[in-house]
Amino acid sequence: MITAARKTRRTTVLTIAGLLAGTALTGCGGETPAPASPSPPPPPAAASTSPIPKKPPTMAPGPAGRTPVFERRTTGGGGGAGSGAAEKVVALTFDADMTADQGPRAASGERFDNPELVALLRRLKVPSTVFMTGRWAEEYPAQAKAIGADPLFEVANHSYSHHAFSSPCYGLPVVAKNAMTHDVERAFTAFRKAGVRNVVPYFRFPGGCYDDTALRALAPANVTAVQWDVVSGDAFATDADAVARQVLDGVRPGSLVVMHCTRSAAPATEAAVRRIVPELRERGYRFVKVSELMEDGA
Ligand SMILES: [Zn+2]
Repeated sequence: MITAARKTRRTTVLTIAGLLAGTALTGCGGETPAPASPSPPPPPAAASTSPIPKKPPTMAPGPAGRTPVFERRTTGGGGGAGSGAAEKVVALTFDADMTADQGPRAASGERFDNPELVALLRRLKVPSTVFMTGRWAEEYPAQAKAIGADPLFEVANHSYSHHAFSSPCYGLPVVAKNAMTHDVERAFTAFRKAGVRNVVPYFRFPGGCYDDTALRALAPANVTAVQWDVVSGDAFATDADAVARQVLDGVRPGSLVVMHCTRSAAPATEAAVRRIVPELRERGYRFVKVSELMEDGA
């Protein structure tokens, strides 16, 4: 049943244990943000026609409650063993990055949002998953709310601070181990304050950087970490064609692509998406959110 869990187990399985804290079940203050239940996802047969999205699938925690990691197969030569009949689906994901200390830069005019990109995704009707930092939701509450209100999108957690959960990580400041869960919960709190709906219990490590310590420390947050197999290279890129090419070359059935939703650090993304979407559709691909990819477990 838990196909996804089985497939990615290798990333989370690491011997035993450690101190599994009994305190792990409590969030810090107030209601916790509809976190993932550790129970297995519903059977595929439960597909519903309701416009209200059903409970998003999650993966079972690893040993000692470690945060599970959803990872796509790395694209090798021929698409990997057993992938012959894989459905042609692809998930575009967009990181809405803003670091905790970037407020002054936003105040002086730097744009960490990208409304044109969001409008394009709507126009092209591309279901996608936005990994949003809590700081971004604070800076752009109306946009955060609008994204969350649109069934085309789901909003996942990209930490509050966009600091690193393992080191080194692209020079990002590091979150202390005992502050990791709080940082993630603080982002969920920011989403709630902004009125963001369609929040899914998925988490993307800033920079994709994590280690076993982070997976253990984050257990109380009850999230499923989400990695990717296709790097778009849109960070600080100015050549949209090069970004588009990199994505088009990398995508395989079931791929998960990482891009960004911030003009400041990814100014070419919208133009790249304009090329990527029609081309992939022409190749027979269908765009899905991460929750659908996880459900398929393909
Ligand atoms: Zn990021």
